[in-house]
Amino acid sequence: MNIHNNIQKIKLAIDQAIKASGRTSPVKLLAITKSRSIDEIKEAIDAGQLYFGESYVQEAISKITALCGFSIEWHFIGPIQANKTKLIANYFSWVHSVDRINIAQRLNDQRTEKTPLNICIQVNISGEATKSGVSLGEIMPLAQAIITLPKIRLRGLMTIPKLTYDIDEQRENFHKLKLALERLNKQGFNLDTLSMGMSSDFISAIPEGATIIRLGKAIFG
Ligand SMILES: *Cc1c(COP(=O)(O)O)cnc(C)c1O
Repeated sequence: MNIHNNIQKIKLAIDQAIKASGRTSPVKLLAITKSRSIDEIKEAIDAGQLYFGESYVQEAISKITALCGFSIEWHFIGPIQANKTKLIANYFSWVHSVDRINIAQRLNDQRTEKTPLNICIQVNISGEATKSGVSLGEIMPLAQAIITLPKIRLRGLMTIPKLTYDIDEQRENFHKLKLALERLNKQGFNLDTLSMGMSSDFISAIPEGATIIRLGKAIFG
């Protein structure tokens, strides 16, 4: 297994992309561990990895429980069914995939931790029928409804753009999400998170302001 080496290489690539783009804010590396074993996750922890993301609730909870002795942070990034919100609200620190108010409301009502749950609104930036997420026009009303919820802290926006290996197209999609976050902040929001960039496109997401990149294959092969 080369998980340790992969993480080191990715960190160097992130640092280079940060320097090349002239930005100063850090990028949080989220290791996506859906379908990965406890041993693989432990190897990533050994390599200094602190932040982990999962897409399926039951699979995630068995891993979170098995690894509860480690001080690591868990992010939920998958589709959310209403009957799973109680588990999501209490096992995770972050949820990246909120795209409707009733889900945000349930997460708020069911969170029993003292600290608020960090959430991002998922945006369907390429308008693909198969992907979840709100359209650009739906962001503002959803954000306005979410910020009234006391146990939820709205942090920003997340997207999974259409898969493309064209660098300009990758940049264009990420740029749209960056502009959407700027629009919210001009309206008085105070949001600091752009969750964008996966194994095939994270190098394009960094110059567009990504603050969290979500990598599976690049870390675990
Ligand atoms: C699986 C997944 C990732 C990681 O994808 P890779 O291509 O393996 O880096 C990132 N974000 C979401 C929402 C995912 O479901």
